[in-house]
Amino acid sequence: MSGFNGLAVPGPTNMPFEVRRAMDVALEDHRAPDFPEFTLPLFADLKKAFMIENGQVFVFPGSGTGGWESAIANTLSPGDKVLASIFGQFSYLWVDMCQRFGLDVDAIDCEWGTGVPVELYEKKLAADTNHEIKAVLVTQNETATGVTSDVKAVREVLNSLGHPALLFVDGVSSIGSIEFRQEEWGVDVAVSGSQKGFMLPTGLAIVGVSQKALDQRPKSNLPKCFFDYDDMVKTNKDGYFPYTPATTLLRGLRASLDMLLGEGLENVWARHTRLATGCRAGIAAWGLELCAKGPQWHSDTVSAIVVPEGYNANDVIGSAYGKYNLSLGAGLSKVAGKVFRIGHLGYMNELMVLQSLAGAELAMRDVGIPFESGSGVGAAVDYFASTGQAPALAAE
Ligand SMILES: *Cc1c(COP(=O)(O)O)cnc(C)c1O
Repeated sequence: MSGFNGLAVPGPTNMPFEVRRAMDVALEDHRAPDFPEFTLPLFADLKKAFMIENGQVFVFPGSGTGGWESAIANTLSPGDKVLASIFGQFSYLWVDMCQRFGLDVDAIDCEWGTGVPVELYEKKLAADTNHEIKAVLVTQNETATGVTSDVKAVREVLNSLGHPALLFVDGVSSIGSIEFRQEEWGVDVAVSGSQKGFMLPTGLAIVGVSQKALDQRPKSNLPKCFFDYDDMVKTNKDGYFPYTPATTLLRGLRASLDMLLGEGLENVWARHTRLATGCRAGIAAWGLELCAKGPQWHSDTVSAIVVPEGYNANDVIGSAYGKYNLSLGAGLSKVAGKVFRIGHLGYMNELMVLQSLAGAELAMRDVGIPFESGSGVGAAVDYFASTGQAPALAAE
């Protein structure tokens, strides 16, 4: 098919040319004496991206799922109690992993379209006077439903109760895109991957670990090998890895961090808010609803759009892909066929959002969903035009 493919799934995201060029290099010796000149500043800048000064950010070959595994295996023991909530496919899979590791999971079932039930967390943590709950799980951005939860509020609950549980955050589709402050929010393990906010191919698990979480490592009884934090600590300190790192991806990560930190994290967050707000204006103008049940849950990295009764969202996705070379995100599990998703994270600007909206309009027209042609695109145009440039662009 002629023309660029439209990639509007919430991961893998679009890869900037800067990142692609940075990876067009010969393979290199990861044990070379000058390799640390590359890796040590990279580790330091990763800490900036996670906003953590103490503790460390580890980069494993893998994906976000591997990052979850590292969090569990390095800090917990079989039978440990963890508090979690399920409100979409990713929060569900994380709980599933905890169970496979033999943890005792209290998983609160929430309506899909909502997020972490902070008040229920508070009740359960307050009742846990013996501090049996060892970790509290928060999926910051549920990518399946386009819902963002309040990580900071969960930290405040833990602090106000003086509860010592570790705070784990799945930030796979949020870190590097929307506000995330690991140290300020007291997050003990923050999990991300390379193919979403970091704008790289899949292949890295990127995990921010607090000193408190690192201190759990000797006490934890779960088997750990590939994801052992201790091996990383010992080798990373000199700029090396316990086994062969994905050097090419690390070169891409260098370029990605240069872009994110160059734009400024707060500008990156503001850009995502602006683009997401324009996208939501378009969806509302179609007369369609988001899967997210209210503005407090709106995600600035992905919107899940509910198709009207009697229509199948997969037909929209199929037409968009088959006829227009545009990938929209599918509904997963409980919302399969009911929603399609537009990702608006990473290397993204106004025109790319408009393209996704236009592509969705074409596909919805094919499928017969009633709406006024151009209404979504028009509403987004109005929003973008009336709110001026994102701060980062204005500054250039
Ligand atoms: C994509 C995603 C994952 C899974 O990450 P992989 O890199 O596919 O292993 C986990 N959690 C969330 C919130 C995600 O968006």
